[in-house]
Parts: sequence; structure tokens; C-alpha cells
Amino acid sequence: MGKIFFTPGPAHLYPTVQKHLLEALNLNLGSISHRGKQFQGIFAETTANLKSLLGIPEGFNIYFTGSATEIWEKSLSSCAGKSSFHFVNGSFSKKYFEFSKEIGLAAYKAEAPMGEGFDIAKISIPSEVEMICCTQNETSTGVQMPVADIHALKDRYADKLVFVDAVSSLPHPNFDWNKVDNVLFSVQKAFGMPAGLGVWIVNQKTIEKAKALKAQGHVATPYHNLLSLVENGSKNETPATPNTLYIYLLGKIAADMLAKGVENIRKETSTKAQMIYDFCEKSEMFDPFVKNIAHRSETVIVANTKSPAAEIIESLKKDQIVLGAGYGSFKDSQVRIANFPAVSIENVEMLIKKLSNNY
Ligand SMILES: *Cc1c(COP(=O)(O)O)cnc(C)c1O
Repeated sequence: MGKIFFTPGPAHLYPTVQKHLLEALNLNLGSISHRGKQFQGIFAETTANLKSLLGIPEGFNIYFTGSATEIWEKSLSSCAGKSSFHFVNGSFSKKYFEFSKEIGLAAYKAEAPMGEGFDIAKISIPSEVEMICCTQNETSTGVQMPVADIHALKDRYADKLVFVDAVSSLPHPNFDWNKVDNVLFSVQKAFGMPAGLGVWIVNQKTIEKAKALKAQGHVATPYHNLLSLVENGSKNETPATPNTLYIYLLGKIAADMLAKGVENIRKETSTKAQMIYDFCEKSEMFDPFVKNIAHRSETVIVANTKSPAAEIIESLKKDQIVLGAGYGSFKDSQVRIANFPAVSIENVEMLIKKLSNNY
């Protein structure tokens, strides 16, 4: 039996990755032109499959970048002339906020202590803000922003663009696409692929905003900005030479997930999350870090540990199980258990059995 990775990214590979990767090599996808019909067909198929999988309606386009981090930068640079607002409750949301300051925008934030979420009714966003940036699943702390809270923000601030980082949760969250303007993710988390591809789902309102800023003389980053992605994307192409192999692979994984049924995947994710949280609640060794059940992530479960986390992680290695360490300053006192579609219910049962035996 091979190793099972419960790490939150890079993560366990989706079971069909190997098959599709071999097929991609047989099709010579490492060598084909990115300005030809074959590539355009792959681009079209992958975006169509993602739209079906995630229920994305007409009016949204999908673009590819090198990473999700890149989309933080390009979104701020292309879509805000003056200011952005950030919900900060961990290391990833904080970096998105800091990028805004670094590129010279007025960056506002609402900050929650580590392990806690937001009472959004109590938060008000200044009128000059153009972009509201939410991290739906904060991978460093295991805190989620409930999708209903994100939708409620759009109801309250219809004039502002809502950006959602769903890097470590998609395809789990079920967005109402009338209530979000942008969603971004990368493939090495819940899609179970090797790292190296960012995906930006964008609506027309966002594109109009970028065009209006450009017309006012605003200058966005030259390598990948929203309008260069839009221009090339209209031909099912990318501005620079893309990761054709992974664009192909993502289309195939999305098709496999479609065949399984996104509702089945979401149900299974919730079942596995409940199993892991139930185990942690009962255990003497583990304790869920996030106390408010509504804010507990279903895809990245973070637990405080009584023994040093490194010892626990080491003890599972002989069983071919790889757990994630705590993030940053929580490295010694927490473990992170990724619950992505690539790990099965049987894998989670085995993890719980081993942990129960050991502790
Ligand atoms: C991993 C992660 C990112 C960064 O993704 P990259 O593909 O490494 O750029 C951004 N946001 C969240 C919430 C993440 O978990």
C-alpha cells in the first residue's frame, strides 16, 4: 500500500491522476503549440467541465495562472484603483491583505483571533472600498467563512466586488453565483493534483471594472492582468506559454468528479469531517482548535495536541500515513488533517483506528 497524505497541500493525489498523466504524455501534450486548435480544445473542455461541476452560469469566465498567490496579486492590481477590504483570520488571508498594502492600495481589514471566525453583522466596510476579499477556508487555522455569510456580504454591499479565495475547499462550497463576483483556487489542494496551476473564475462585472480602471489610466501588472487573460481567453488561449499538461489534467479530474456526482463528493466530505471532529472531541490527545461549530472547516481540520505534534506525525509514518503539521507558530502544538475528495471514507476510518490505538 502506498502512503496516504492527509496534508493540506500539496495533498493526496486524486486516484485517476496517474492514468490521465500517462494519457497526456501519449498525446504529446508536453510538446504541442499553445496557439493551435488542440490546445484551444483542451482549454474549452476544461473550462466547460469546471462550469458543470461547480454550477457556474453564463456570464462567468475561467482563466489560468501559475498559482493562487498570483491571482491575489493580479486581482488587486487589475480590479482596485484605490482600496480593498480583507477578512483576516490566519496566514493566507493576511498575505492577501499585505499584498494590497504592498502594491500601494488603501487596505482595510477585519481581523479575528487565530481559530475564530467573524460575526459579519458587526462588521462595516468603508464606502470607498472596491473589492471585498474573503478567504472561505483559512488553511492555516481550519476556520471557514460560511458560504451564507459571503452571500450576505454581497446583499449588503451590492456595489462592491466580492472575491473569494476557496483554494483549500473547492469543490466543497456550493456558491450562489449571483452573490459572488470572483472565486479563485489552485489545484494541489482539494482537486488532488500536483501544484502549478491557479484558476480564476470571474464575472462580467469584474471585467467591466478592470476596463473602466484602464480607461482612467490605471496601469495593471504587465505579466498576467485580468484584461490580458480576458483577451487571450476569448480565443481559448493564455497570454504566456501555459501548463498545458495540468490544464488537461484538471479537465479530466473535473470530469471524473462530475461522473461521481458533486453532491456525492460534498456529502462524503461532510461525513468524513464529522468522523474526524467526533474522534477529536472524544480523544484525550486531540482537541478541535476551532470552537464555534459554524466556523469549523470541513476540508482542513485543525486539532490541538497534548504531546508534541512532531511525535504524533512521526508515529504515523510507519503506517504510511502523513499528517500535516500545524501552520507557522502552531507547528509544535497542532496537527492539520486535510479532508479532500482524494481520501476515501476507508482512509479516514483507518486514520482514526491508528490514532485510537496509538493514543
Ligand atoms: C495554499 C493556499 C493559497 C496559495 O496557493 P498557491 O497555489 O500556493 O499560490 C492561497 N490561499 C489559501 C487559502 C491556501 O490554502
